[in-house]
Amino acid sequence: MKWEGNRESDNVEDRRGGGGGGGGGFGFGGGSLSIGGVVIALILSFVFGINPLTLLGMADGGAPQQSAGQQAAGPTATANDPETRFMKTVLADTEDTWGALFSAQGAQYQPPKLVLFTGRTSTACGTGQSSTGPFYCPADRKVYIDLAFYRLMKERFHVSGEFAQAYVIAHEVGHHVQHLLGVSDQVHQAQQNTNETEGNALSVRLELQADCFAGVWAFHANRSRQILEQGDVEAALSAATAIGDDALQRQAQGYVVPDSFTHGTSAQRTRWFRTGLESGDVAQCDTFKARQL
Ligand SMILES: [Zn+2]
Repeated sequence: MKWEGNRESDNVEDRRGGGGGGGGGFGFGGGSLSIGGVVIALILSFVFGINPLTLLGMADGGAPQQSAGQQAAGPTATANDPETRFMKTVLADTEDTWGALFSAQGAQYQPPKLVLFTGRTSTACGTGQSSTGPFYCPADRKVYIDLAFYRLMKERFHVSGEFAQAYVIAHEVGHHVQHLLGVSDQVHQAQQNTNETEGNALSVRLELQADCFAGVWAFHANRSRQILEQGDVEAALSAATAIGDDALQRQAQGYVVPDSFTHGTSAQRTRWFRTGLESGDVAQCDTFKARQL
C-alpha cells in the first residue's frame, strides 16, 4: 500500500501510555454495535438521499447504555512513529473519500475520531478493552484500536500488510458511516422487537455492509490516490477471511471477535468487501435487501 506523503488526519487521539494497561478479561458489555433489528428495505433508498439535517440529529441514536466513563477531552500529543503516521494517513483517506461521497449527495460528512489505546480505556460505550479488538462507539463517534491487534492478526491469523491493517480501520469507519446514515440506529430499534436469532441475523447484515463500505472506500481511495499495490487486495481479503465468525470459531479460545460477535462467515465478508471494492458504489452495499449474503 502506498501512503507515505499523503495527508495525515488531526482526528487521532493518542491515549497510549497515559493510563490504562491491564486488559485481560473480555467483553465490552453493552456492545458497541451489537445491534439488531428490523427489515430495512428502505434503508438504501435513503442512504445518501438523506437530508443532512437529519444526519445531524442522529447523534445519540442507538447508543449503547452502560455508564459512560469520563471521556478524555482536549487535544493530546500524538506520537510520530511510522505506525502512528500510517494510522493518521489511513484515517485522513477515509475522511477525504467519505467527505467527497457525502458532499456529492449534498450532505456533510462528519468524521469520527480514532483513539489509539493500550489495554483498556474509557468510552461513552463503557470500558473498552483491547481483548475485544477494534470497535466503534456511536455514542462518542470514535473508533478505538489497540495496535497490538495488528500483532495478533499477524501471529494468530497470519495476516499482515498495511492494506489489511487499513481495511480494519475502514471497516470501523464503515460503522461510523452507518451511524451517520441512521442505518445502525434503525437496526438497533428493530432489534428491540425481535428474537435473538433474527437480531443476530440483522447484526450480520450490518457487519457485512461495513465490509462493503470498506471496499467502497478502497475503490475511491485507489482511484484518487493510487494506494493499491500488488497483493494488497489479497491481503485485505485474507484479513476479511481470517476474522470471519467461522474462522474465528475454529481458532483456540482466548480471543474475541473484533467489535461484535456476529460478523458473517469468511466467504460472506470476502464477497461484500469485494462488492464495494469493485463497484465503488454505496448502493451496491444493500446487505439488507440481499437475498443471499
Ligand atoms: Zn464490525
